[in-house]
Amino acid sequence: MSSIAPYPCDRCGLAVIKAYIFGSGGVRIVLDAIPVVGGDFATWPLGYDPDNLRLLAARRPARVNAPYDMPATLKPQFDGYSAANERAWYVEHVHGVSAAEIVERRSS
Ligand SMILES: [Zn+2]
Repeated sequence: MSSIAPYPCDRCGLAVIKAYIFGSGGVRIVLDAIPVVGGDFATWPLGYDPDNLRLLAARRPARVNAPYDMPATLKPQFDGYSAANERAWYVEHVHGVSAAEIVERRSS
């Protein structure tokens, strides 16, 4: 089993993933396993051994780069800020509350 696979939270049972905050020297954060639009964190795996990966997390960027496969003629029109806002990102886990609910509460 992968070391970065989602697992049920031992307090509330929601699926979560454990990550380390990038550049923090090992501070851990528990994230809801399901990324949602309006979320806060980007994650990426670190390591080469599939059984011994670490997941790193960082605040999501304000803008993202154009997709690699986008035709060059379209890239100047690509709005990286809108694209970042429309993308799903991870949310810090809150016991008993799904990522979608957390984000929904913020906007209401
Ligand atoms: Zn929980």
